[in-house]
Amino acid sequence: MPRSADDPARPLSPLTALTPAELTWQVDDIGEAPHSSRFGDVYFSRHDGRAETEHVFIAGNDLPRRFADWQQSRPFVIGETGFGTGLNLLCAWACFETHAPTGARLHLISTERFPLARDDLARALSAWPDLAPKARRLLEQWPEPVSGVHRLWLGERVVLDLHLGDSAECLAQLDGRVDAWFLDGFAPSKNPEMWRPELFTAMALASRPAASVATFTCAGVVKRGLTAAGFAWRKAPGFGRKREMLVATLQAPAMDDDRRRLTPWFLPPPPQHARHVAVIGAGLAGGCVAQALARRGIRVTLLDREAPGAGASGNRQGALYVKLAAETNRQSRVYLAGLLHSRRWLAEIDPQRRLWQDCGVLQLATNERETRRQQRFLANHALPATVVEGLTARQASERAGLSDGLALAHGGLDYSQAGWVRPAALCQALAATPGVTFKRAAVDALRREASGWRLQLADGEALVADQVVIATATQANRFDQSAALPLQPIRGQLSSVTLPPGSPALERVVCAGGYVAPACDGILSFGASFVPNEDDAALREDEHAANLAELRRTLPGFVAALERAGARLTPGELGGRAAVRAASPDKTPYAGPVPDAPRWQSDYASLARDARRVPQTPGAHHPGLWISAAHGSRGLASAPLCAELIASRICDEPLPVARELADHLHPGRRLIADLVRGNVPPEA
Ligand code: SAM
Repeated sequence: MPRSADDPARPLSPLTALTPAELTWQVDDIGEAPHSSRFGDVYFSRHDGRAETEHVFIAGNDLPRRFADWQQSRPFVIGETGFGTGLNLLCAWACFETHAPTGARLHLISTERFPLARDDLARALSAWPDLAPKARRLLEQWPEPVSGVHRLWLGERVVLDLHLGDSAECLAQLDGRVDAWFLDGFAPSKNPEMWRPELFTAMALASRPAASVATFTCAGVVKRGLTAAGFAWRKAPGFGRKREMLVATLQAPAMDDDRRRLTPWFLPPPPQHARHVAVIGAGLAGGCVAQALARRGIRVTLLDREAPGAGASGNRQGALYVKLAAETNRQSRVYLAGLLHSRRWLAEIDPQRRLWQDCGVLQLATNERETRRQQRFLANHALPATVVEGLTARQASERAGLSDGLALAHGGLDYSQAGWVRPAALCQALAATPGVTFKRAAVDALRREASGWRLQLADGEALVADQVVIATATQANRFDQSAALPLQPIRGQLSSVTLPPGSPALERVVCAGGYVAPACDGILSFGASFVPNEDDAALREDEHAANLAELRRTLPGFVAALERAGARLTPGELGGRAAVRAASPDKTPYAGPVPDAPRWQSDYASLARDARRVPQTPGAHHPGLWISAAHGSRGLASAPLCAELIASRICDEPLPVARELADHLHPGRRLIADLVRGNVPPEA
């Protein structure tokens, strides 16, 4: 039986580097244009490439009129196959700016299997001086060539999701729906692999009703593919010497959407318009959600019983890093996507890098087991060296700025996109985002009413909001509605010491058993302890001692040099901070709608008898109730991406991750796992 794209047992597409585009440059009297050596075709004509784009894709989809008429609160969504140089989408963005009403938003999605190198992209786009400011935004955020979705914020009202990988595969994993398609990609005769039936099927399934399509080609394979997928096409006058092109409209999908047959519980709840959202918890998870919603023009009340960042997100300094599994799994994919997302997001909200540094993170292999694990990881993942690279002890020492007597005894993995963040300051900055009102209050209970949600506050007052996001870490399952989501407290203590003048400087975050970051404001932070099932946040001297011992083991030369410089490295004299983090049983965060657990337990009860007989009932959720929690000690890498996922769902936008990863993050996954294992609460 062929496996559905939603089958959790389906083998994963590899997490890998993409093959870069191979270009030559065609030069003529007016300039140069990129030419693909692989496909033997040009990306655009230097003479009339702009006019062709305007004719085929912009006018072919009737965009000036549709933009001018756009009144919906959700963004208008364009989907493209073959991003290439981005010319089509930059022109669509310019057209949107000219025609769309203020307040309208545009969401661009494009697939690309052979992304251009940044320098080539800059060179190609320099052909169009009037698009220069737009090209600059694109180039600033141009992602690493890693398979998966990369979200770029092109403007206040314009987002671009680059889906790096094969068009048909990416679109089959697209969680979102498109209003207008730009069917580009080199000519079917030169690129038959892309124009296969699965591409048209995936497009139809990811289309809004009556979605439009425009394409430069009239090839039979395209006409047949469109028809079979449920699009009605007609010929239209082509551009320049091409007599004809195709435009199409989705009539009705010709096939059933069976992609949810195996996992109907993950079907998203129907979108509801939200003007005011209450976010409970002003740590990193809640702050990121508040910022993501406010950026979309939604009024946010951010509530916390303490000040922003008072909980586990309140450290002065924290490492932005991930530990990826040796064999590709969904959790690793979420975390790598999260790391790359966090870095781009931080560069957007804090380009001066006051709140963070992308100095890189070294993950040392200090024992045989970890060395073998890292070797397996490298053998299984052909990722770009700019994302993760295996280093010898000597190379690692150089990157960390540790020479001579301070040199490292072990090599390891180097993540040059990673670094450190000031989480406490970041939480304060997020709470101060325009459109976010911070309210200091404890929320005791939530009640759904006709007008939305009523939040019962501990001081006896109440607050009403259209929708609610729970982001209260270990407290996140204290509400009746979220009580079925298991969470484990994990105590973590960070130690710190003020460095005397003359102390050696570390140039990278170094981690092994714990981590140590380059000094921030003259203070060196290291740790953290990891004590499951403890929710006490008092400082403990024995944990300082353990952090110190780990630091000495990892960086003996560095610690000796600090002591020679006069650093007071004894447990009794260290500063620090302890806090309690929350983790889920599978250590993946919860990000998404809150399931109505009793309903799931009855709707899917038959799974306990036969897990292969899946009841075709969509998952019941508490309408307008969301959760971002269980970020453990990796919230810097996961919270911004999870926030973007939740805000995208609330606003009926395409998601910033592949559907299988959104499913992996779904808060209801454990309920299903428990039902299948027969591990069900007695009252169910
Ligand atoms: N839309 C582009 C622009 O505005 O510059 C031009 C697109 S170019 C003619 C075709 C693009 O499709 C190339 O960048 C190529 O790498 C990409 N491509 C080819 N086969 C693909 C596939 N199977 N999946 C995704 N992208 C593909």
